[in-house]
Amino acid sequence: MKIQAPRGTFDVLPEDAARRELVEAHAKRILGAAGYGRIETPAFEATELFQRGVGEATDIVQKEMYSFSDGAGRSLTLRPEGTAPVCRAYIEHGMHKWPQPVKLWYMSSFFRAEAPQKGRYRQFWQVGAEAIGSAEPETDAELIVLLADLLDALGIRARLMISSLGKPETRAVYREELQSYLRANSDQLSDEVRGRIDLNPLRAFDAIDPGTRAVMSGAPRLLDRLDAEDAAHFATVRRLLDRAGIGYEIEPTLVRGLDYYTRTLFEFSSDALGAQSGVAGGGRYDRLIEQLDGPPTPACGWAAGVERMLLAAGELPTSPAITDLYVAIADQEARPDAFQLAREARRAGLAAQLELSGRSLKRQLAHADRMGAGYVAIVGDGPTTGLKEMESGEQRELSLSEVIPTILRGSRLT
Ligand code: ATP
Ligand code: MG
Repeated sequence: MKIQAPRGTFDVLPEDAARRELVEAHAKRILGAAGYGRIETPAFEATELFQRGVGEATDIVQKEMYSFSDGAGRSLTLRPEGTAPVCRAYIEHGMHKWPQPVKLWYMSSFFRAEAPQKGRYRQFWQVGAEAIGSAEPETDAELIVLLADLLDALGIRARLMISSLGKPETRAVYREELQSYLRANSDQLSDEVRGRIDLNPLRAFDAIDPGTRAVMSGAPRLLDRLDAEDAAHFATVRRLLDRAGIGYEIEPTLVRGLDYYTRTLFEFSSDALGAQSGVAGGGRYDRLIEQLDGPPTPACGWAAGVERMLLAAGELPTSPAITDLYVAIADQEARPDAFQLAREARRAGLAAQLELSGRSLKRQLAHADRMGAGYVAIVGDGPTTGLKEMESGEQRELSLSEVIPTILRGSRLT
């Protein structure tokens, strides 16, 4: 049996890599300009980080984690998301002593044991941004604006949905209200939703079966239960988005699959993606750092799926690889000279490639032409080297040491 990439994973080939580099470059430019610095955390962490950080009741922790033993009785997990690890790093490095908020971004791979399909993989990449240490509504709005700018730079048209979950205390009271409502209507709910009334009643808003949906259309809504402070925070975020000209819909039943959110919640989705329509999502998580034994620290952030952004983006203007000089070998004796010429050309700042396949001279020239080389140097055992300018077809004999200066001068060969 041939060994293949594991199910749900993929190889990034050079052409894909160029598109990913473009995503990275836009993220770096847009987030860097707003003061976000790059962070990368380990690909695996203590399993407990995600159990406590993401939440025991979430799909991620319940069924999507790749966990394994480190051989010494400790459970490790391939990171399924980036926020809990960044918060772990914030606490571990005492970042609460840095000027606040600490603004960080990453572009890393994440791992979830999910059923693979288009836009859903077991190893996937996210660009993420986290602003830790600010409770101001401007932080939420700024993060949303930066995400909108990133999607815009990639030519992605996405719909923004926002909501607010309020504070955990409000949510706890609301949760009981919702649980009573679900219990009173339990005969119409799907088995899965009924089974999770105790554990995670909010997820009932996510259900797609008609019975549950009918019940949920009449369910009490958290957005109507926010206290005055939370409602004011949400109103300010909306006002700032209005002012920035960012369109959005208020989606009172927006539920995201992570337990740590408080107050603002948002998601961008694209119709170009079909079933996996979520491009990016995020929100405020004011209690997470504390929950991970750090000092009470408000925070907000988002993550955008790189593969889904690339699927939604379609064509991206990536520039083709450039070859200034192709070093052809006309005589076996000349191989060391050819090798050295290619090296010196690169040191002089040229993109230079050496013939590495034992082709005939004729086929070397055809190959150089196909790759769009600007010049071909034909290195033989004689006193001179042929330098051919590919576009004009002009060729001239030079001493070996004149080849690079001639190309750099860009002067005519005849
Ligand atoms: P979904 O509802 O599609 O499962 P999610 O709510 O689990 O998404 P988040 O945890 O918020 O997603 O992750 C943020 C983004 O990461 C998503 O909007 C999506 O673009 C991307 N993403 C999440 N899971 C996957 C996956 N398995 N494969 C590829 N991209 C993913
Ligand atoms: Mg998911």
